[in-house]
Amino acid sequence: MTALVVTSKRSICSFCGIARQRYVISLNKRQKRFKSTQLKQLKQDVEWQPVIGLEVHAQILADGKLFSGASSKYGAPVNSQVSFLDSALPGTLPVLNRRCVEAGVLTALALKCRINKVSRFDRKHYFYADLPAGYQITQQNHAIANDGAFRYIEYGEREEDCVEKSARILQLQLEQDSGKSLHDDLEARSLIDLNRAGIALMEIVTAPDFHTGNEARSFVRELRLLLVTLGTCNGRFSEGSIRVDANISVHRPGEPLGTRSEVKNINSINCLKKAIDFEIERQIEVLERGDEVVNETRSFDKDTGKTVPMRDKESKQDYRFMPEPNLPPLHLHSLCDVSPGSCSGVIIDNVEKKLPALPNEIRDYLMNKYGLNLYRANFIVNGEIVDVYEKLVATRDINKFTSFLINHFLNVILEHDSTFSESGISPESVGDLYDWYINEDLSLLNVQKIIRGLLDGESKDPKYLADMWNVWQINDDEYLTDVCKKIIQENPSQVAKIKKGKKRAINKLMGEARTLTSDRGNLTKMSEIFKKLIQD
Ligand code: ADP
Ligand code: MG
Repeated sequence: MTALVVTSKRSICSFCGIARQRYVISLNKRQKRFKSTQLKQLKQDVEWQPVIGLEVHAQILADGKLFSGASSKYGAPVNSQVSFLDSALPGTLPVLNRRCVEAGVLTALALKCRINKVSRFDRKHYFYADLPAGYQITQQNHAIANDGAFRYIEYGEREEDCVEKSARILQLQLEQDSGKSLHDDLEARSLIDLNRAGIALMEIVTAPDFHTGNEARSFVRELRLLLVTLGTCNGRFSEGSIRVDANISVHRPGEPLGTRSEVKNINSINCLKKAIDFEIERQIEVLERGDEVVNETRSFDKDTGKTVPMRDKESKQDYRFMPEPNLPPLHLHSLCDVSPGSCSGVIIDNVEKKLPALPNEIRDYLMNKYGLNLYRANFIVNGEIVDVYEKLVATRDINKFTSFLINHFLNVILEHDSTFSESGISPESVGDLYDWYINEDLSLLNVQKIIRGLLDGESKDPKYLADMWNVWQINDDEYLTDVCKKIIQENPSQVAKIKKGKKRAINKLMGEARTLTSDRGNLTKMSEIFKKLIQD
C-alpha cells in the first residue's frame, strides 16, 4: 500500500484560545476501501489550551530614581545621570523616593489591589556587567500591593467582536532597573551605561488568565493607557518605559497547567502577540512530537518572528534573596490610623484622592452620553482624543462625526504607528477636515492624503496642503457633465456594455473621471450624471 498523505491544519480560536489540530488524510481509492482502526485513530482532533501570565515592568515617571536623587530622564549622554549609589560605591545608602511610593500606591489603587500597610525590600543577587552592586533591590516577597483585577477590552476582527474581559493582578512591586550594556560589535567589546541603573520600576504580575496573544496584547495596551492616564509611567515602548515578560504554557483542558517558558523583555504590543502566538505553536509541536517543554527563558527575534532560548539558559537560578539591611520596612498609613499633622509618611487616603477618571470609566461615560457602542467608545479612549472628541462633536452629527473620526482619521494615524498626541495635529484641523468632507469640499481620498501629509510633517496647516496640492473638490454640475459627456464619447464599448446591463462596466468610466479631474471631481455626482446620460 502506498504511504498515506497526512496534512495537518491548526487554528487557534481567538476567543476561547483553544488550539484545534485537524488531520486531513488524503486517501487513494484503494486506501478508502481499507477501513482499519489504525486509520480511524490517525483521524484525531486534538485540543490544546494555551495559558499565559504576564510580568509588566513599567518605569515610574519621577524626577529621581528609586533610591537616589539622580535624574531618570531619557536620552541623556551616557553615564551622565549616575549617583554614587547607582554605581554601587561602598558606603552609599539608599533613600526611598516618596514620589515612587505614591506612584506605586496610585497605580495599585487603580488596579483594585489590596495595599499592604507594611512591605519590605529584598536583595536579589545576580552577576551581570550592568548591575554594579551585584544585586537588585526588589519586593519579591513582601510587595506594596497584591490581589487586584483589571478590566480590559479585547478587539476582534470586526467591530462587534469587541468584548470586555478581566484579568487578576497577583502583585505590584517596586524595584530598581539595571544599567544597560551597549555592545560594540566592530571593536568586539561591551560598554556600560548606568543612566538607567536604579530607575524605579513597578512590576505588575498577572495571574495566568490569558489564552491568546491577542488577549495579552489587548491587556497591555489598556494597562499602558491606564498608567499614562495616572501619570505614573510615560508608556513609551520606544524608550523601554514598558517591557513585558510573557510566561506561556499549553495543556489539555481539565489537566494541570503545563510547563511554561518565559519570553523576556518584549517591548512592543505587536511583538508581544507575535511572540506568544509563536510560542504556543512551538510548544504544541514539541508536545505532539512526544517531547517535553523545557522551563527556560527565551527571547523574541523581531526579524524572524521566532522565539529562541537565551544564552544564559541554565538550571533554575538561585538569586540568594535576603532582606535589604539598609532599608526599614515601608509603612503606609490610613487617615484613621494617624492623628492629623503627625504623620510624615505616605497616607493611602490622600493618594486615593488624586485618582483621575480611569479609562474604563471614561468609556462607560462616552457610551452613556453619546450612545456609542463599546468598540467606538474604546477606540476614542485608546486614541487619547476624548477631550477633542467632546469639543468637536458638540456641534456636529454624532454618528457621522464618530465614524469619520474612527474610520478615516484615527485609523490613518494608527497605520502610521503614531498617536493623536504624537501626531502634532491640532483639534481645529480635525474639525476642519471633517467639515470639508461633509460639505463636499474635499473627497475622502484627499482628506486622507492631507492627514498623511500632516503626519509626514509636510505642514501643520491642512488648508495650506489642500491649496498647495490643489485638491479642493469640483462640484460644478455643468463642468462635471461636460467631463462625463467627453468620457462617454470616448468609451462607446463600455457604454454599450452598461446599456446591456453589465453594471460593473461603470468602473472604467469612473476611473476615467478620476483621471480627467485629477481626483478632484465629486464622484458621487459624476456617477449619477453617467447613469442619467446613459439612460437618456
Ligand atoms: P516566578 O517567581 O518563577 O517568576 P511566579 O509564580 O511569580 O513565578 O509567576 C510568574 C508569572 O508566570 C505570573 O504572571 C504567572 O501568572 C505566570 N505563570 C505561572 N505559572 C504559569 C503557567 N503554568 N503557564 C503560564 N503562566 C504561568
Ligand atoms: Mg517572576
